Amino acid sequence: MSQAQIILEKLEQKFSHEPEYIQAVSDFFSSIGDFYESQEKYQKANILERIAIPDRIISFQVPWLDDNGNIQVNMGYRVQFNNVLGPYKGGLRFHPSVNVSILKFLGFEQVFKNSLTTLPLGGGKGGADFDPKGKSESEIMRFCQSFMLRLWSDIGHNMDVPAGDIGVGRREIGYLYGMYKRLTRQHVGVITGKGLDWGGSRIRPEATGYGVVYFLENMLAANNDSIAGKRIIISGFGNVAWGAVKKADELGAKIIAISGPDGFVHDPHGIHAEKIEYLLELRATNNDIIRPLAQKYNLLYDPDRKPWNIPCDIAIPCATQNEITEEDARHLIKNGCQYIVEGANMPCSHKAVELIKNSDIRYAPGKASNAGGVAVSGLEMTQNSERYTWSTEGVDDKLRRIMNEIHDTCSHYGIQPNGSIDYADGANIASFIKVADVMCELGI
Ligand code: NDP
Repeated sequence: MSQAQIILEKLEQKFSHEPEYIQAVSDFFSSIGDFYESQEKYQKANILERIAIPDRIISFQVPWLDDNGNIQVNMGYRVQFNNVLGPYKGGLRFHPSVNVSILKFLGFEQVFKNSLTTLPLGGGKGGADFDPKGKSESEIMRFCQSFMLRLWSDIGHNMDVPAGDIGVGRREIGYLYGMYKRLTRQHVGVITGKGLDWGGSRIRPEATGYGVVYFLENMLAANNDSIAGKRIIISGFGNVAWGAVKKADELGAKIIAISGPDGFVHDPHGIHAEKIEYLLELRATNNDIIRPLAQKYNLLYDPDRKPWNIPCDIAIPCATQNEITEEDARHLIKNGCQYIVEGANMPCSHKAVELIKNSDIRYAPGKASNAGGVAVSGLEMTQNSERYTWSTEGVDDKLRRIMNEIHDTCSHYGIQPNGSIDYADGANIASFIKVADVMCELGI
């Protein structure tokens, strides 16, 4: 049995109740297992077992008062996974599904994603099983304040820098940061995704989606192709999807389907600027977004949230983990999809990835293709330290360069004997080497 298999079995026994975490670790181990077997230095330092277990998990209760005067209680967490490359860095997710398994999988992925960005960032993740949907503005503010009251002493601009994720956008970041500032009396870059007037970076809201499209452009260029005219499907009209839709549309692609919380819309002519603006308006109201769009523009609407059986050239899943199942993958392969570029974290199930990797589809794993968000968060931290705000062009240019470099790194480490590129293996091996080398240098 290989070292990777032995360690995975141990982890499966210890954490059998954490399926998402085991899925992420198992995918990673199967990708780097052979490489690890050839590296005596890493085996001697037991890197694989050490790298798969978080440094620390903080969990706490978050009591808050609802608008009827009742006391509600949620669970809050911060998983500080690995900080050998820099302060722990990763978003906060507020969603009823949040638990330790999901946050450990996200934290684990974040360590390697952050390693790929070329910036000095460790990895972490956090959140709460709180559902912001249907809550009033004051309830959200009270929840965020209570959450920060419990977390503030365990974070800091050189220690751990949270950001947004599902359910945590600019509004929540404002309330969280406001409370942090009140408690510490410090205005420092301890949270990213801030508003522009209080320490935020230009391009941060769009960064993840833009980065996904920049990575896709690189993949296409490596195949002597370009994005113009390509039929794209994008799922989960949230922060990441919005940036990807905006940039892909700007570069001449045809967004033929978008999905969101209430279904998907199919527009063979392409969902262009005006419709995208309308979707944004709808999203701000917190209600259904897909059905009203379809009604206004007389488009095909399906209440199913999965658009994956529509023929397309490129699929960009941007909603959540495991949203592309084995069956969805079969549809995409059968219908001639050529590229799958992950905007969300682990949106393809284990079986789906296996099928995709054995097909002609070129596949980019989220830890490489969606790294643009955390990269610009890293740039926000740099701007905070400099007490300076860079121009839109300056940030966008750096983002583009980082995504180009991530693509080239994945290509270098993922090149196969037949000349094709396995981006998943490339991303995993390259990011692992960097973290593992530093772990060896720093000792146990
Ligand atoms: P948002 O909350 O802004 O958007 C997610 C959207 O997807 C919501 O509208 C949600 O609806 C919808 N959704 C959820 N599940 C499904 C589904 N099965 N089918 C269709 N739509 C669905 O989150 P983000 O855009 O910030 O994050 C999305 C993904 O990208 C996550 O995996 C996140 O970890 C990842 N990511 C985010 C980054 C960022 O910068 N924000 C950076 C890198 C990765 P509903 O609310 O009804 O569930």
